[in-house]
Amino acid sequence: MTTKTALVCGAGGFIGSHLVKRLKAEGFWVRGVDLKYPEYAETAADDFVIGDLREQVLCRSVVDRSFTEVYQLAADMGGAGYIFTGEHDADIMHNSATINLNIADAAYKRKIRSVFYSSSACMYPAYNQEDPDNPKCSEDSAYPAAPDSEYGWEKLFSERLYLAYNRNHGMKCRVARYHNIFGPEGTWTGGKEKAPAAVCRKVATASNGGEIEIWGDGKQTRSFLYIDECLEGTVRLTRSASFEGPVNIGSEEMVTINQLVDIVSDIAGKKLHKKHIAGPTGVRGRNSDNRLIEQRLGWKPSATLKAGLEKTYAWIERQVHSNSRAAAQ
Ligand code: NAD
Repeated sequence: MTTKTALVCGAGGFIGSHLVKRLKAEGFWVRGVDLKYPEYAETAADDFVIGDLREQVLCRSVVDRSFTEVYQLAADMGGAGYIFTGEHDADIMHNSATINLNIADAAYKRKIRSVFYSSSACMYPAYNQEDPDNPKCSEDSAYPAAPDSEYGWEKLFSERLYLAYNRNHGMKCRVARYHNIFGPEGTWTGGKEKAPAAVCRKVATASNGGEIEIWGDGKQTRSFLYIDECLEGTVRLTRSASFEGPVNIGSEEMVTINQLVDIVSDIAGKKLHKKHIAGPTGVRGRNSDNRLIEQRLGWKPSATLKAGLEKTYAWIERQVHSNSRAAAQ
């Protein structure tokens, strides 16, 4: 039996490092590529190349065989504090677009038929996400395009790039639009963390009866998808016989940021006062629309937000405690 092989670009990142573990558990031989090793655990990859995917030569050298599956997750990204301030726009666009241009072409030249590409819900038009109670994120609502960040514009450009390779070069690249993925071993401090991790950290560091700061009025809505379900959707799309996307991979359990704080506080067994402060908040409302994924893949995420937050909070609480023990020594 020949061993299945996979290339994971961005294997040092949150989703990529979990994906490597999953593929290894399925028996794949896996090569990971990233600027860095995973931060919180050893990589499970058989081969891990530290390198810069903005360099075409590096891309050609890591795409050195007909991998069974190629996943392109590498991107210059971060939470709202990184994407929405405008200070990193040129880097975000240049870095991520260059990686995608390189990987799409290296895969095509190596006769690889399919690349999985992780786009983002951030590519949906801002005008459909102004009402926190009724955001519209069905796949067909992408145009006329009007993402609210350059990060979203780059995602839209790269989606189109992979789809153009499909049309012109007979490839079958897959495009997923991830909606706020969270879980253990994700960035939880330092400015690039997303809302669930930031809230878990703030709750873990607050004392019972104390106060935590929330960006904006907390009435903005979002849905959050636990990492294991994200991976399930990712491999199902990659292996589907005929469906290429773009398709949402997200949860339909929409909550306000205030509700998110309440769920995490409950898990921690703490009563906390919310202090609303000015900060970048992104669109007013966003939720996944899972009609298409259910129709085309016969599957959609189903785990509750609370179940994922319990595992994530437990992990972040341990990080907070081991950091404070280290600082005390
Ligand atoms: P992450 O930042 O943890 O992982 C991205 C990885 O790409 C990082 O490890 C980074 O070092 C690597 N990278 C960046 N530039 C590189 C370069 N020039 N060469 C090599 N590696 C480079 O992010 P993540 O949360 O794991 O996200 C993975 C993908 O999913 C990204 O494309 C992201 O845009 C997309 N996505 C994520 C979410 C989410 O909620 N996490 C939501 C929507 C889309």
